[in-house]
Amino acid sequence: MKDTPRLYVAEKLAERAEHQLGQDQAHYLRDVMRLKPGDPVRLFNTQDGEYLAYLGTVARKAMSVICEKQLAEAAPPPDIDFVFAPLKHARLDYLVQKATELGARRLRPVYTARTIVDRVNLDRMKANAVEAAEQCNLVYVPEVFEPEKLDRLLAKWPADRALIYCDERSDGADTIALLKGLKLPAALLVGPEGGFTPEEREGLKRLPFVTVISLGPRIMRADTAGTAALAVVQAVLGDWHS
Ligand code: SAM
Repeated sequence: MKDTPRLYVAEKLAERAEHQLGQDQAHYLRDVMRLKPGDPVRLFNTQDGEYLAYLGTVARKAMSVICEKQLAEAAPPPDIDFVFAPLKHARLDYLVQKATELGARRLRPVYTARTIVDRVNLDRMKANAVEAAEQCNLVYVPEVFEPEKLDRLLAKWPADRALIYCDERSDGADTIALLKGLKLPAALLVGPEGGFTPEEREGLKRLPFVTVISLGPRIMRADTAGTAALAVVQAVLGDWHS
């Protein structure tokens, strides 16, 4: 079963349900994986979990799959959101893929004062999240939010969700000890290439739900910082424990 191709299907999955695959998925199964009618595939989504399915018709432009049985329930990761300033092209692709692999529950792009990207391709972000979930056997795809201004998001922030703010200028307090003092739900905030402005930093530090953490003495690029921070948060607060 491990080698059976896995595909994300947004529509409802259920026993005996039939799905028409889109052109890209049909091309992948037919031309890349060289599957034939009757061959098995695995389909999954966030609501219905993962299903074993079989190829029905395999034509040039159309392909159908029929679900047989459920293989796994949907498995959402711990309630950790990833809040980040969108980066340019390849770096944003990387960040979305890694955040998905590392088990971010929601992806929330935010515009900060020094964010240099002013338009985000949401479909591309979603496609990257889906691809990472397909490859990494996740029975879940993180929800991708429309970007919004950081101050707007903070103004409606729920008091019970800890916001873990990665600040390269923090005073070096013990990161692991600080994280151990928190509980889920939580969110992680990483800034843009140029960092946060002094006003944004001061504003963030004043908020009662914010915990400031350091990721060590080296200033990392935003995509590295996001990946490293998600790993450490997942290890302390998330599901890196059996
Ligand atoms: N332009 C800033 C500077 O030179 O001081 C660096 C910004 S850094 C490239 C982008 C983001 O990554 C920061 O806003 C912060 O959230 C995060 N970051 C990078 N290194 C970090 C560290 N050592 N500790 C905490 N956060 C870090």
